[in-house]
Amino acid sequence: MKDAAQVGLPRWLDHLLGQEPAHRVHMSQALLALGLCLGFALLGAWAARQAATPWPVVLTWASVLVLGQSALVAAIHTRWSMRWADPSLTLAQIVFTMLMSALIYPLVGELSTGVLPVFVLILSFSMFMLKERQTRWLSLISLGLVLLGMVLNHLAHGVPPSVQAIYFCVMVICVAGMSVLAARMNALRQRMRRQREDLVQALQRIEELAIRDGLTGLFNRRHGMELLGEALSRHARQPHPLHVLLLDLDHFKRINDVHGHGVGDKVLRAFGHTTLDALRATDLAVRWGGEEFLLVLAGDDAQVPVERLRLAVAASAVEAASGQALTFSFSAGWTEVRENDTVESLMERADAALYRAKQAGRDRVEHA
Ligand code: GH3
Ligand code: MG
Ligand code: MG
Repeated sequence: MKDAAQVGLPRWLDHLLGQEPAHRVHMSQALLALGLCLGFALLGAWAARQAATPWPVVLTWASVLVLGQSALVAAIHTRWSMRWADPSLTLAQIVFTMLMSALIYPLVGELSTGVLPVFVLILSFSMFMLKERQTRWLSLISLGLVLLGMVLNHLAHGVPPSVQAIYFCVMVICVAGMSVLAARMNALRQRMRRQREDLVQALQRIEELAIRDGLTGLFNRRHGMELLGEALSRHARQPHPLHVLLLDLDHFKRINDVHGHGVGDKVLRAFGHTTLDALRATDLAVRWGGEEFLLVLAGDDAQVPVERLRLAVAASAVEAASGQALTFSFSAGWTEVRENDTVESLMERADAALYRAKQAGRDRVEHA
C-alpha cells in the first residue's frame, strides 16, 4: 500500500526522496529549500543587474547559492549527513542561505527591501527541526546579518540610514514574532513526541498483557498453545530433542484452605518467579490453568533445568499470615515430542505421567 506522502508524486521525485520516512522528511525539506534558492537566485540576479552590479559578481553569487544548497541536498541524499546530530542539516542550510541573503544585500541597492521577507522565510524552516534556543540564536544572527547588509548597502549605494532604520525595525518585529511562533511550535513538537512515546509504551504493555498471566508473569494458556503449536511445526520440519512437562502444585487446595486464598496467590507468584529464574532463555513456561503449568524445553540436557527448578522450588518459601515459612512442591509428567505428535497427543501423555506422579506420592517427575 502506498504511503500518503507518496500519493501523486512523480516517480523520479519519489525515488529521490527515498523509502525511509525520516529521510523522506529531511529530503523533502532540503529540496523545497533548493527550489526556493533557485527562485531567489533568479530574482536576486535580476535585481542585482537592475542595480548595475557586474555580471561576474551576479553569476558568482547565484551559482554559489544554488550549488551550495545542492551540495547540502546531496549530503542528505547520500546519507553523508547521518554522521551529524541533526541529519536534516537544517542549521547548516539556514546559516548558509542567510549568509547568501546578506551578501546579495549590497548588490541590489534600493531593491534590498525585498530581501527582508527572504530572511523571515528562511527562519521559518527552523520551526520544524531546531530547538528553541537554536531558533533564538538564528533570529539574532539574521538581525545582525541584515544590519551588516544595510551598512554595506549604505556604503555602496548611499541608501539613507533613516530609511534603513525603519526597515530594520520592521525586521525586528517580524523576527521577534517568528521566535515566539517557533517556541510554540517547539512545545507542540515535544508534546507530540511525548505522546508518541507514551503510545508506544502503552502498546508494549497491551502486548505483554495479552500474552502473559498477570499473577505469575508466565505466558498465558492461549499464547502457550500458539507457542507449543509453533514448536511442534518446527519439530515436524526438522526433528530435534524437544520435551514437554505438565506440572501441578501439590496439595494446593490445602494451602488455600489452611492459609487463605491470598497466601495461595503468593505461592503461585513465587512459583512463577522461581520458574523464570531457573529456566533458560530458550525454554517456555506457561500457566496452563489454576495451579497447573506447562514447560517446553529444547535440547538433550532438559533434565538440568528441571532439576534446577525442583531444587529452587524446594528451597523457596512463602511467608504465611502466622509468620510461618510455607514450603511447597510440584509433581510433573514428562514426555518427549515424537513424530506426528499433536498438542492433544502430547498433553494426553504428559497428563497420564502427571497422574502417575501424583499416585506415586507427589513431589516427583514421571516419564511417559
Ligand atoms: P493435588 O496435589 O492432587 O494436585 O491437589 P491440589 O489440592 O493441588 O489439587 P486440586 O485440584 O484439588 O486443587 C487445586 C486448587 O487450586 C483449587 C483452586 O481453588 C486453586 N486455585 C486455582 N487457581 C487459583 C488461583 O489463582 N489462586 C489461588 N489462590 N488458588 C487457585
Ligand atoms: Mg490441579
Ligand atoms: Mg495440585
